[in-house]
Amino acid sequence: MPSVKNTNPTIIVIFGGTGDLANRKLIPAFYNLYLDGWMPEKFALIGLGRTKLHDSDYAAHLFDGLTKFSRKGKPDAEKWEQFAKSVNYFVSDINDLESYKALAAKMDSIDKQWGIRAERLFYLSVSPQFIETATVNIKKSKLADHPKTDRIIIEKPFGHNKETAIALNKLLSKTFEEQQIYRIDHYLGKETVQNILAFRFANTLFEPLWNRNYIDYVQITVAEEVGVEERGGYYEGAGALRDMIQNHLLQILCMVAMEPPVSFDAEEIRNRKVDVLRAIRRIRPEEVHRYAVRGQYDAGWVQGKKVQAYRDEPQVDANSNTETFAAIKFYLDNWRWQDVPFYLRTGKRMQEKISSITIQFRPVPHSTFSKTQEDSLMANRLTINIQPSMDIRLRFMSKKQGLEMNLNPSEMIFDYDDCSTQTPEAYETLLQDAMHGDTTLFMRSDQVVEAWDVITPILEAWESRDSLDFPNYAAGTWGPESAEALIARQGHVWSLNAHTTQKKHKQ
Ligand code: NAD
Repeated sequence: MPSVKNTNPTIIVIFGGTGDLANRKLIPAFYNLYLDGWMPEKFALIGLGRTKLHDSDYAAHLFDGLTKFSRKGKPDAEKWEQFAKSVNYFVSDINDLESYKALAAKMDSIDKQWGIRAERLFYLSVSPQFIETATVNIKKSKLADHPKTDRIIIEKPFGHNKETAIALNKLLSKTFEEQQIYRIDHYLGKETVQNILAFRFANTLFEPLWNRNYIDYVQITVAEEVGVEERGGYYEGAGALRDMIQNHLLQILCMVAMEPPVSFDAEEIRNRKVDVLRAIRRIRPEEVHRYAVRGQYDAGWVQGKKVQAYRDEPQVDANSNTETFAAIKFYLDNWRWQDVPFYLRTGKRMQEKISSITIQFRPVPHSTFSKTQEDSLMANRLTINIQPSMDIRLRFMSKKQGLEMNLNPSEMIFDYDDCSTQTPEAYETLLQDAMHGDTTLFMRSDQVVEAWDVITPILEAWESRDSLDFPNYAAGTWGPESAEALIARQGHVWSLNAHTTQKKHKQ
């Protein structure tokens, strides 16, 4: 994680080089790393695809993608031309071993030209069904036979359940050593998510309070305004639990709940995260309904636009049982967090696009104030906004100005918008780490399996029983009412819902 530039000559191969992810995220990330001086002096970027394309046509396609999707906007012509000299397109079919042999010859010729065996980074930006064929063929054609310098990045979803994730780990381990495998979860590359570690472990102020004695509950929300768009076919087989909770939300939970690591060594950090996943109390099958709520969006209004129900989306079954919303109450069985609920929720077609963590502190043990003053007393709250706002807010009580002793909640805010430098995209951070050989922000095999294990009882319960009330929330809301009830039993409310309501009243 402590970023050091990789200066070794590197060849990057993107399987799925003409795909959406490559166009929207990967190429813009590599280009921005290049602009900011993070790419090695000698690098080659090879995009693989089935369509016959000339290098220059491929470069033009990437240029369009950069113009649309890069945080830095349309590339400067001269700089782009320089970068594009290192970009190659290679026609290849994942299923065809001959393609790999030809690729091996191409990579060898680059090595020869540079006079050194370059480091190799393979990015599998293709649908999961190709992972097996691609890795087997990479092995057969000896493309990645230098374990210290050859690496492979695997996109989510990593498996479909615990069994398939274990099988995938086993398969990958036949070709690659664990240190060569980079299972990407782009949430871990987000500036604000990484900042959780700095905030927790570079300050003495909060760590003594970071436990069950002072923290009442934790909420993690990842809400999207978009629906399934054109990915209905994929989403039908996934759902919110697999698509978001198993990876992004549980990884954030790990950052919030982990013990202080002894060092920023990749294995040390990943060990501390696995400890958290192991500590999460497994929900018994018969109790799933008490700990987890599922939802599916109906038609409604999002940002003033009428949108259709999930079941009316393209490639979605008219009687679909797939959840587009999930809220879960987890407990961790360890000394630090015993009895502190961790509420996780995610959904599509929600009222607001926001990813946010709320750390709710306990109320003061005894109030010195009069009954009327007490009514305005609010417990301290730390809010870490991950996106689109990127800030940390600490709520504390203060005295309202005036002759009387009246109380008022105030906030101390650290806002990334106030910083002069642009925040790198998550993929920039992660690709730079992968090129440098740093696995800290990538998921180790046991992390993935534990995360699947955590959600397995819920997955199985939901798959075995159709939800009778789907669709159960209107698009443009905060999800089904049962999600409010889930945490109301402890006397809690979703802080963001309250925040939005407050904002609306102020307007
Ligand atoms: P995509 O369908 O846009 O692209 C897939 C690519 O694979 C295309 O370039 C296609 O030509 C190539 N391909 C398909 N069959 C091939 C074959 N036989 N031989 C060679 N190439 C072949 O998909 P995508 O959206 O880019 O997603 C790629 C992966 O990344 C998927 O696993 C997806 O789940 C994951 N992912 C995507 C996003 C995103 O924002 N698009 C986000 C997170 C994860």
